[in-house]
Amino acid sequence: MRLQTRYSLIIGSVVLIVVFTMASLLLIQFENEKDVGLSATEQAMRSSLYHQIRNEGLSINRVLANNLINPLYSLDTSELNDQLLSVLNLSDVNYAIIFDINGAIVHEGEESISRFGKVPNDLFHKAATTSRSPLIQQSAAIMDFSHPLFIGDEYLGGVRIGLSLEFANSNIKTTHLELSRIFAEGYQQNLVTVAVTSLLMLVLFGGLLAAWVSRSISLPIRQLVAYASQVGKSAKKKSILVIESRNDELGELARSFSHMVNRLEESNKKITYQANHDPLTNLPNRLLLNNFLDETIERSAVKSENLTVIFLDIDNFKNINDSLGHTAGDDLLEQFSNRLQKYIREDDFFVARFGGDEFAILLEGVNTDIEATKVAERILLLSEAPFMLKGGQEIVVSASIGITFFPKDGTTRPQLLSNADAAMYTSKLMGKNTFTFFTNAMNNEVNQRLTIERDLRKAMKSNLLEVYFQPLFDSHNQQIIGAEALLRWPLASNEYVPADLFIPIAEQSFLIVEIGEWVLQTVCKQFKAWQDKNLATIYCAVNISGVQLGKKKFINVIKKVLKETGLPAKHLHLELTETAILTNENTAGSTLSELTALGIDIWMDDFGTGYSSLSLLKKFNVQGVKIDRSFVNDMKENKNSRAIVLAIIAMSKSLNIRTTAEGIETLEQFTSLRDQGCNVLQGYYLGKPMSISAFETLMLDQPELFSLNTSPRLVKNNHKF
Ligand SMILES: [Mg+2]
Repeated sequence: MRLQTRYSLIIGSVVLIVVFTMASLLLIQFENEKDVGLSATEQAMRSSLYHQIRNEGLSINRVLANNLINPLYSLDTSELNDQLLSVLNLSDVNYAIIFDINGAIVHEGEESISRFGKVPNDLFHKAATTSRSPLIQQSAAIMDFSHPLFIGDEYLGGVRIGLSLEFANSNIKTTHLELSRIFAEGYQQNLVTVAVTSLLMLVLFGGLLAAWVSRSISLPIRQLVAYASQVGKSAKKKSILVIESRNDELGELARSFSHMVNRLEESNKKITYQANHDPLTNLPNRLLLNNFLDETIERSAVKSENLTVIFLDIDNFKNINDSLGHTAGDDLLEQFSNRLQKYIREDDFFVARFGGDEFAILLEGVNTDIEATKVAERILLLSEAPFMLKGGQEIVVSASIGITFFPKDGTTRPQLLSNADAAMYTSKLMGKNTFTFFTNAMNNEVNQRLTIERDLRKAMKSNLLEVYFQPLFDSHNQQIIGAEALLRWPLASNEYVPADLFIPIAEQSFLIVEIGEWVLQTVCKQFKAWQDKNLATIYCAVNISGVQLGKKKFINVIKKVLKETGLPAKHLHLELTETAILTNENTAGSTLSELTALGIDIWMDDFGTGYSSLSLLKKFNVQGVKIDRSFVNDMKENKNSRAIVLAIIAMSKSLNIRTTAEGIETLEQFTSLRDQGCNVLQGYYLGKPMSISAFETLMLDQPELFSLNTSPRLVKNNHKF
């Protein structure tokens, strides 16, 4: 039931009750007044009639008394009889009695005078006998009169008459009935009048009340309800200012409501903003990017305009996070996004944080490679200046950028985002700090990369990866002094996945962290087992990726592995490339120092191919360098390569660090490097990588190779390894 109906019913009921009560009171009052009126009228009438009868009685009795004096004195019974009869003949006279001085009846108007001499014994008769004045007595049906009779001063007796009140009473009763009838008719008329008036008042009040309730209560409430139903919707809400201006409870309600709605809308705006923006950089997040990109694609399609989608990723950001901590990483992201907004948003381009260290930029109206190139170059330029972090570190970063066009490369959001990601990934493969335009061939590369990453993850979980060992020879006595651990991924077809194919993918996906720890654990455990069997006391060289080195807890991993396996630190050598060290330049120094302090030797791997910075050797405490196989391979044909090899060996000697030459495949290479004083030699000519069991067999079958006191020799039947 609606409020207005309910309210009207309640008020209508109250009005009805009030009107009914008032009408009842009026009718009761009318009834009372009727009774009082009737009673007063009857009383007045009775009084008047009785007064009239009294006067009549007194008059009749007085006249009769005068007429009876002489006949009584003379005892003229005939005359007495006549006088009495003249009175008794009157209609209202009931009786007439003449009595003597003793009260005895002398005559009573009948010839026989049957009660002659008798004294009536009623009280009035006694009073009449003794009184010398006229007396009156009245009962309900009769009015008695007595009058004394004197002749001179002599008392003769008296006369009594009784006048009937029957006629008077009858008149009074008739009149009462008539009046009652008249009053009853009046009462009915009043009742009808009151009822009609009440009904009219009820209708009038009900109508007025309904109108008032509707206008002052129901209508504002309905307006408030309509206002409330619009909350949260984008449609313009109707004003409730009129209700708010009221000085009653509804006004207070409307003001409170308006305040609450404003707070709610502010809160909604805040929630919507938070849901669509990245809290760290205040840039639009992926959700908003997706929505905006959908809208932009639709708009561009309608206008037949091009749209450029750019993806960019901060190079080696994970290393920064791992080595300097997430606070520093967040600081960098914040500063980087500020620069991005400053450089990009002046052109009103849409910039969003896609997630992690990835950003997306949408360029509407930029429809040529040249213009997109300009934007990409500006993005690369913005990262040139160093970033000063709050922790005091100054770091330089670069970005890898992927660019794709709508509708040339794709017409849907997923296509464009996937294309831009593939192009960005290609930039990473090309050495980072560059930009690449999407081509269709990239999708295949991305798919292949994803497949390899997925299979590698499975292989790791299924324990399918293996560690091989390639012997390292002391050039002086050709004894095996160590072995480099090499990761192998065998396939069911007895073939191996090339390491240079899956290792970069393991690094990019950070699987290398897990795999690297497994390799360390496996190798150290195996070498400790061989040591326990007194098979050999050579060292094992394990390759460490830059990703592993960048992990904050890398040193703890090494300590943990050594502790768990029990392998002495001096039997563990770590091989690191220059790139691995340089990408962790901020933290590598302290990490390498800690490793050296533990007793672990550090080798700079693939030396000569990267920066080959002498200052790097000076800055970082390494115990040796491994000359890259590319120089060894063409030493014979390329005099520059030979010169580089000789220079590295000479430099190392002067720096008092050791050298290893890898990739030795011929006797000539072997003798040349041995004669030049290269400390350690490695290559297929000397010993191929072999499985753990094969290496153990080698130690068992040819223990002289591992004995520092035996004469120099090569691995027998090398080809079988
Ligand atoms: Mg190596």
